[in-house]
Amino acid sequence: MTKLNFYINGNWCEPLTSTQLLDVINPATEATFAEVCLANADDAEAAINAAANAFETWSQTSLQQRILKVEVFLAAYQKHYESMAKAITEEMGAPASMSYDIQTETGVGHTQAHLEYARTNLLDEPIGEYGQLFKEPIGVCVLITPWNWPINQIICKVIPALLAGCTMVLKPSELTPISAQLFAECIHEAGIPEGVFNMIHGTGAGIGDYMTSHPLVDMVSFTGSTRAGVEIAKSAAASVKRVSQELGGKSANIIFADADLSAQVELGVQACMLNSGQSCDAPTRMLVEASVYDQVAALALATVETITLGNPQQQGDHLGPVISQPHWHKVQGLIQVGIDEGATLLTGGVGKPQGFEQGYYVKPTLFGDVNNAMAIAQEEVFGPVLVLIPFADEAEAISIANDSPYGLGAYVSTQDMDKAHRVARQLRAGTVHINMADLEYCMPFGGYKQSGNGREYAGFGLHEFQEIKAIAGYR
Ligand code: NAD
Repeated sequence: MTKLNFYINGNWCEPLTSTQLLDVINPATEATFAEVCLANADDAEAAINAAANAFETWSQTSLQQRILKVEVFLAAYQKHYESMAKAITEEMGAPASMSYDIQTETGVGHTQAHLEYARTNLLDEPIGEYGQLFKEPIGVCVLITPWNWPINQIICKVIPALLAGCTMVLKPSELTPISAQLFAECIHEAGIPEGVFNMIHGTGAGIGDYMTSHPLVDMVSFTGSTRAGVEIAKSAAASVKRVSQELGGKSANIIFADADLSAQVELGVQACMLNSGQSCDAPTRMLVEASVYDQVAALALATVETITLGNPQQQGDHLGPVISQPHWHKVQGLIQVGIDEGATLLTGGVGKPQGFEQGYYVKPTLFGDVNNAMAIAQEEVFGPVLVLIPFADEAEAISIANDSPYGLGAYVSTQDMDKAHRVARQLRAGTVHINMADLEYCMPFGGYKQSGNGREYAGFGLHEFQEIKAIAGYR
């Protein structure tokens, strides 16, 4: 069985003293297909020291040199594209077509967008009468990523950190170490100098605090749950590290009566269910203008009923399982809470779907007549579960949308562009999609409120890894 090790100082290495291993489980078959070594403080120390030692030279390279290295990395990533898609399917259950066309493709798209920005990014510029501004790398970074979009999250941290001139230790999700391992091989093939990029595997409970409080670390970039984000911020606070957080969400999708209902409702349902509902910015609360509520409920139900489940190894637009058994139980628990709270279960519900007794499959579930105070409207389910919430008018739609501890994504569907602009500006969310328009790779991504406090993607993502220096009397 494959045993996954660490990548430190340009070498693949066994743990120094830890003997702990974790099974890597295919969520569609429940079979263990690899084992990942879990790091302890000794391994974290070695990786952080390697990054700290490499900072002196890597931070002094020119932006042009770093761009060239990332270009070589991109070629290596494209060479291993197919293996990457297969790894993601096997480790987290994303169906083959989705893994290939979307999950793996985001790695190419984001790397290209970062490169494009870096090619025109000024690292210094005049300011005032005699000053000059410089953008310098912040230093040694700890990068912690989740399992739901595994390669997207890794790329959106490692590539800007490299381009900024930082050195780093990546700790990917212990549930999806295979894509991370392949990513590290691409870095190795690209000839990124020793110590610039290091990777250890491990759990939050095992090494999280050690890494995020370490005195040699200048910044922590974290994507994951709000729970872990809070722990990390506390751990990093004592040494005043910069902490950039991309956390959970419960995004509202406002459907006005004048929207192109059949198109927008179908797109809204599909976007909620994509990746088996395991996307941080999924539109999981569909807010519906009361005058078209029955029509929208019928359209949403018809769309959910067309969604099929299937073997992730097969091509097609079916859904795969959710990530793990504990997560399956969490989703089941929240569906039961929705039923107990009195929401109308329109389709789906608790239990394994027929024919899918093996694997962590969840029935695509739709709740109607949901009140925004209910737990299924407030809590991130992170499964294929959509709730429908009626609203009376524009003001109430905005108020319900903003009545959430989260503020990651928001969606507005209407054919009245004045209304779309007006509403979009009042939503407390980092991204707003009008009529389900996709985000472009050049656009920033991040959250308001408890969805986080940083921005990723291209230019804004790159700036997260930079310090600003002002030199007076420079000119
Ligand atoms: P998680 O918080 O359980 O784990 C994420 C990562 O953090 C893992 O690598 C884990 O090992 C590590 N970790 C956990 N506790 C830690 C600690 N105390 N210190 C250091 N590291 C720790 O989240 P998950 O279940 O892997 O991912 C799902 C969550 O991620 C959802 O809430 C989702 O909304 C969020 N997410 C957010 C974005 C975004 O951009 N806002 C993107 C993807 C996922």
